[in-house]
Amino acid sequence: MSADLHIHTTASDGSMSPKQVIEMAFKLRLKSIAISDHDTVDGIDEALASSKKLGIKVIPAIELSSIYNSRDIHILGFLINHKNLKLLESLRSLREARLERAEWIAECLQKQGLDLSFDEVMETAGKASVGRPHIARLLVEKGYVSGFSNAFIKYLRRGALCFKEKFVYPVDRSISIIHEAGGISIFAHPGLAHLDEYIDKFIDMGLDGIEAFHPEHPAQDIERYIKVAHDKGLLITGGSDCHGPLSTHGLRLGTVFVPDEVVDKLEEYRRVSRL
Ligand code: AMP
Ligand code: FE
Ligand code: FE
Ligand code: ZN
Repeated sequence: MSADLHIHTTASDGSMSPKQVIEMAFKLRLKSIAISDHDTVDGIDEALASSKKLGIKVIPAIELSSIYNSRDIHILGFLINHKNLKLLESLRSLREARLERAEWIAECLQKQGLDLSFDEVMETAGKASVGRPHIARLLVEKGYVSGFSNAFIKYLRRGALCFKEKFVYPVDRSISIIHEAGGISIFAHPGLAHLDEYIDKFIDMGLDGIEAFHPEHPAQDIERYIKVAHDKGLLITGGSDCHGPLSTHGLRLGTVFVPDEVVDKLEEYRRVSRL
């Protein structure tokens, strides 16, 4: 148990700051971690700075929300240059689209008679890239719903009263954004929505690997993805998808077994390939 390559912070929808994640990872004796926030690299500098003092390896990463064939797909990027200008430009567009969407949702909630303003939503999000989890938190705080998941059920999930599609890049574009920033592209948690049939399509788009170890992958999924990766010459990665102790799953940090070898292979791949 010494690597965790899928972690969210307050830069997206996690409840721990990058510094808190590093301190917790140190306590748990993790050797390497990847900060992989949704659609933002804003947490990486703080994580890198905190990690130096504690001797933990931080892999700069991202989890890009993407779409293929009308399905939501998450593409992880590892060992990215998080200062890459094209990457930052692509992320800025996503962030602006999220702002517009949050404003639309806030207005929709007002039309339902709820006393909830866009400013309050932005306050809840703080420096983070605003998303439905922030609105859900506010709905709970204001007593409009009895719990976080009920906020999604009643207002925020697809088909609910104030659902709004989020602008995301198609999978091929996400893969090239990651490659242009010198990173390695990985299909995140393919087992979650049973999307194995897409693996070959994404390989044609330049995909470098798949996430095998994930808390919602049962043992047989993990074994299958390791085999698929071996057969198709793909890398494997894995992590806890930790969103901090306040998330519905609790603190997942370090709870998924990820061999150190996974990190060595990522670094070797990056050295040997053109990335
Ligand atoms: P967004 O990026 O704004 O669309 O928000 C996506 C995030 O909302 C996901 O990463 C989850 O953390 C959370 N989420 C999405 N659907 C649900 C749901 N039905 N119940 C609880 N949380 C959810
Ligand atoms: Fe999330
Ligand atoms: Fe994900
Ligand atoms: Zn994630």
